[in-house]
Order: sequence, then C-alpha cells, then structure tokens
Amino acid sequence: MHPQDPLSTHFRIDEIHKKALKRLRIETVGDLLLHLPQRYEDISDIQSVSGLSKGQDAVVFGQIGGLKARKAWKSRKPIAEGWIEDGSARIKVMWFNQPYLAKMLTDGTYVKLAGKVTGTGDKLYIANPEIEKLDSLPVDRHDSIFKNTENLDDTIYPVYRESKGVTSKWFYHTVLKCFEKGILEKMVDPIPETILNEYNLPKLPTALQWIHTPKKAEHAESARKRFAFEEVFYIQVQKAIEREAVSAATTYQFKTEKEHIDAFINRFPFPLTGAQQKAIDAILKDFNGKHAMSRLLEGDVGSGKTAVAASTAYAVVTSRPPEGLGKKIEFGNLQVAYMAPTEILAKQHFESFIEYFHHLPIQIGLITGSGCMKFPSKVDATKPTKISRAQLLKWVKSGEIPILIGTHALIYKSVEFKHLAHVIIDEQHRFGTNQRKALAKKDARMPHLLSMTATPIPRTLALTVYGDLDITLLDEMPAGRKPVITKIVTPDKQDEMYEHVRAELATGRQAYVICPRINEPDPDKEVTLQLKSVEAEAARLKKDVFKTSRIGILHGKMKPADKDKIMLQFANHDIDVLVATSVVEVGVNVPNATNIIIEGAERFGLAQLHQLRGRVIRGTHQAYCFAVTESKSDKTKERLKALSTAKNGFELAEHDLTFRGSGELYGSKQSGLTDLGMEALKNLKLVEAARNEARALVAKDVDLKKHPLIKLRIAHTSENLHME
Ligand code: ADP
Ligand code: MG
Repeated sequence: MHPQDPLSTHFRIDEIHKKALKRLRIETVGDLLLHLPQRYEDISDIQSVSGLSKGQDAVVFGQIGGLKARKAWKSRKPIAEGWIEDGSARIKVMWFNQPYLAKMLTDGTYVKLAGKVTGTGDKLYIANPEIEKLDSLPVDRHDSIFKNTENLDDTIYPVYRESKGVTSKWFYHTVLKCFEKGILEKMVDPIPETILNEYNLPKLPTALQWIHTPKKAEHAESARKRFAFEEVFYIQVQKAIEREAVSAATTYQFKTEKEHIDAFINRFPFPLTGAQQKAIDAILKDFNGKHAMSRLLEGDVGSGKTAVAASTAYAVVTSRPPEGLGKKIEFGNLQVAYMAPTEILAKQHFESFIEYFHHLPIQIGLITGSGCMKFPSKVDATKPTKISRAQLLKWVKSGEIPILIGTHALIYKSVEFKHLAHVIIDEQHRFGTNQRKALAKKDARMPHLLSMTATPIPRTLALTVYGDLDITLLDEMPAGRKPVITKIVTPDKQDEMYEHVRAELATGRQAYVICPRINEPDPDKEVTLQLKSVEAEAARLKKDVFKTSRIGILHGKMKPADKDKIMLQFANHDIDVLVATSVVEVGVNVPNATNIIIEGAERFGLAQLHQLRGRVIRGTHQAYCFAVTESKSDKTKERLKALSTAKNGFELAEHDLTFRGSGELYGSKQSGLTDLGMEALKNLKLVEAARNEARALVAKDVDLKKHPLIKLRIAHTSENLHME
C-alpha cells in the first residue's frame, strides 16, 4: 500500500461511498490519512444501556425504535414514546407533552440521548431526554477496537467530518486498516526535519498515528499543532513565492525629498496623526527601494487612509520616470491608478482627490462603468467635466493624466498607462500579482502596490492571508473625533431607542437599520431569508415606528447598479432610513447618517459590528450606535460591552479570536484556512514561525525544486480553493 494509491485499490468502495469521498476530495490513501478528525469524544462519556440505573443522568448512543404517540391514561396529555437500543440492551424513552418529537424521528435513527433514568425495578425509562440526531454512531463500545482497552477512562476516539454516504466510523476503521498495512512507514514528511525539531513538532508518521489514534490527549494536541503549523506553513510558502516574483521584477525606483512632500501635506486643514506620518514615511522608503512595494494599510474607518493615499500619489506624480527606460528621453511623470470596489466609492475618492490636488497643475481622471470624468474642466478650472472614454484613455496612455481613479473598469485591457508606478486598492482583499501585472501591461515595470482596508482582522490572520504583504497599521484616530455613543439595547429598551432615533430624524438626520445576519448551511437560503427579513423589517418600521419617514432597502441580492442607486438616494437624503443587510459594511460615506440600529447584534462578530458602526463615524454631529440583542446571556452582554471599551477595531478582532474562535468569523472560503488552520491563529508564535521558515525556505528554493512534496501540497490546496 502506498500513499498515492487510489483507495479503491485496497478497499471495496461502492458508488455512494465514492460520491461521498469525492465531495470530501478524498481519492487516495494519502488523502484519507489527511482527512483529520474534527474533534474527539471521550469514551467514558458513553454509558451502555445495560448498565443504567435509576436516578442516573444518562448519556447513551444508539438507535431509536418503536416510536409512537399516544395520550396519557388519565390526564389525556400527549406522550411520545419509543426505545433506544445500543447493542447491550434497550431502554424505554418517554417525552411528555412533546408528541411532535415522535414525528420528527423515525425508527432506526441514530441518536445521542441525554436525560434522567426514571421508573421502578425493570420498568426503567429515560424521561424527556435531549436528543441529537447522528448520521451514525461515532463508535460503539462493543466494537472490537475497544474490547481490549484496559483503561476506558483514558480512551478518546476521533470524530471525522462526514458526508452523506460515508460515516465517521468508516473513516476510523479504514484509517486503522491502513495503519495495519504499514502505511505509516511509507509516509514521507514534506516538512524538513530541522523545522520540526526546532519547534518540537512530531514527524508525519507519528503525527498521523497520534491524531487518528491518540492514546493521550496531549498526543492528539501535539499532532494537531503540527498539522496546523503545516497548513499555515503552506500558505506562507505560497505567499513567499508570490513575494519573490514581485521582488524579481524591475520597478520604478525614485526618491522623494521630505520638504517636497511636507509642502503638500502642510496644506491639509489638519495635522497628520503619528500613524499617518509613519505610514507615508514607510511608503516613500519603499518607493526608493529596489523592489516593488507590496503593502497593506489597515485602519479603521475615519483613520485617514485617503490622506495617506493622496500624499503618496503626490510623491509619484511629481516624480520623473528613470532615464534610459525607452529609446528616447522620457517625458511626463509617473502615474497612479486608484481602484475602488464600487462606483460610488470611486466617485467619492475622485472628489477627495480633487480637494487634495486642485491647487496643482495635475489632472485627475475617473473611469467607471457608467462614464468618465476629468478634473479640471477646460471651461471651469474649479470643476470636473464629463469626457468620453476614448478621450480619457488617450490621455492616460499618453501620460497627460497622471492620476486615474476608478472601479474594476480600471483593469480592462483597453486601459493603458505610460508609466504606471503606483497602484492603490481600496477594500479589495484579493488583488494579486496577476492583476497588478495586467495593469502594468507587457514589458512594463512592476508598479508599487498599496492595498487599503478597514476590515479589522487579528494580527495572526493578517500575517497569514496577507503573508505576501508588509503591513502598516493606522491605529490612531485623528484628534477631536467624537466617539460614537454605543448602547446595548434589550427588548424592554427598544421604545426608548426608537424615540431617540425619531427625534434625530425629525432634526434632519438619517439612520441605518441593519437586519440580523442569518446563519444557514445553505447560502442560497440564507440570502433569501435575509432578503425577507429586510423587507419585513422595512414594512414593520414603516407601519409602526417611522411612519412619516422615507424608508429604503438594500441587500446583497440587488444588482450593483440598483445598490448604487439606493446608496445615492440615501446620500442625497431622498431616503431617511435605510434598512439593509450587512452589505453597507464597506466604505460608503453619508455624513448625515448619524444613527445605526443593528438588530440581532449577538450574531455578529465584534469586529464586524465595529465596521458597521463605522458607517456613522464621519459626520460633525454626535453619532449613535444601537446594538439590539434579545439574548439574555450575561456572556453575550459582556462581549458586546467591549464595543464601548475597545480602543480600535484591531482590539475587537483579537477579542473575537479569543472569545468566539476564528472559524465562524472569517469563513474558510475567504481565508482559505480549515478549522484546524484557524485554530493555529490563536498562536502568534506558531504563525510567526511558519512565516519565517517559509520565507527562509523560499529564499533558497523559489521553485521548490528541492521540496517537491511541498509543491504538490500547495498545488492541491489551491485546487481545493478553486473548487469552493
Ligand atoms: P478612511 O478612508 O480611513 O476611512 P478618510 O481618509 O476618508 O478615512 O478620512 C476621514 C475623514 O477624516 C476625512 O474627512 C479626512 O479629511 C479627515 N482626516 C484625515 N486625516 C485626518 C487627520 N489627521 N486629522 C483630522 N482629520 C483627518
Ligand atoms: Mg476610505
């Protein structure tokens, strides 16, 4: 048996199994072994039915049978009853007043059942137990595997992710059979031994044995740590390769005098924050380096990212292309492309840039799906003007327009620059080397990249998913900002909240109402549910709460153009109250909207709540955020309280990571990490180690010639990501 053998060579795999395994992307023996347990259960938790006695709190696993509903003799109250059987014996189960339970279950269903053993003598039964349906029994203690276990209390068994047609138990048994056939000796470790030794991680064969068949909890833990490291390591290797590719390309290298930049900045109606100054300095230093910059600027809404973007853009467009690039002497200056995720945002940036640049003889272009503009207009030098796309593209290509702002329309083939030296991306998480290259076009130099985001993520996640970028934090808010007054609102305080918001609306302010996130395994259903909740809430508010206000709705199922239209109406104050899903999260600035009500706040991560709250941070008026929760749990209230006490989004993101676990916050689709990899993010040392080792390895072996197994695994991971 070899790791690369198809499973079907060694095991009888019927059609149903085959399909299920395919869904889990398991083909070979090696794939199977790397289908790691999600968790473990302690065998001592399982009680056998034959051993149950009166008064005991029982937890049993078994099959349900004999289900029926009837009425109690005297009281005529409905009763559901049946029995559970686990191979050792069966015991009666009764639910009083819950006859529907008998209908929800069917005979033969596997369940986990927890409840008190009641009754007398041999007429014992479990009354009103909690019940959990299972696809299969995790393991039953009458299995041969556990027969010879001496100390049952110490025994934990693995629980695997299942798919219809293949059970956790099947995985366990099949893995054990592979072990018996000596597969572990044939497993070659992709991770160099020196790295494993350095961080005290078990080698692959040991780790596999420990993770699938742990004798001790510490062994499982140690093995999980290794696989978590491995996962983060592969991502880091991939990022390091991308980084090397950027470094290998020639770029525009230029030096900017400090006085020159200061002259531009000194015109701002405010002093820079220390964090802004540091960010600008770091970027200017990168411009003067040999390699193209790849930098992520992370800062809360309102932390002043645009000012940083403008200052660095100024440095670029007042610099000359290097000599000897073309055959002739080059004329004109270097250029900047600034890309925003939506049309409204692109327009907002265009307007901000006009503010920053209007005193200079520097032209600014805007390109979006619905048209093009240029500043200044020939007729009126204080205003922008509409121009044709063809005209704009011509001027960008000739270098006459040095700053081009736009949506995705920016990366269309037809858009060509003369000397594109700096690409700024706003809120676009996945903008990679390829797009950057596409923007620069053939033969051209690799432009510097500044990616900006207001999404607060924990440091470890940033180091991983942005492993190819250098990270700069804008962790300081401009002085004198009024913090948003944040209130946690329980149902009994809702009237007060609505009273307040009505008063605000009456004085001419506007408000957002965010409908709760809906967790649904089926994403399509989730969207539909959410859409319904937005529509229902808007109708309710119109009828009962904000009767005289103009209410608009915004949700993820709308076409981008329709979304833009609604946002524009809201920005122009043709709408007073915007009822929305969390799609308003990203970047639109409506300074007059000073109130945000977030329903079902407990369903959001703190970082996301913080971002939603960021929608009302801009105005000169005092802003309010109401986090509405029906949850009675003190823990939830405690967690939400952090919204008022945390200094910035990063702190809240770390809070989320510690208190809620990362998995549910940043979907694996977004980050490319499995639950296990996500676990690793709680460990900064481990992530840093993976990053450092990956960079060191790639520095020596960028093509992974000496590490073919790592290469294979990376290809495998990115293929999986593609299939998501
Ligand atoms: P971000 O893009 O990070 O959300 P912006 O760059 O749009 O933030 O800045 C938000 C607002 O704060 C703008 O009106 C901007 O003019 C202003 N601003 C930026 N930097 C400062 C500063 N250092 N002091 C005061 N106001 C600032
Ligand atoms: Mg911004």
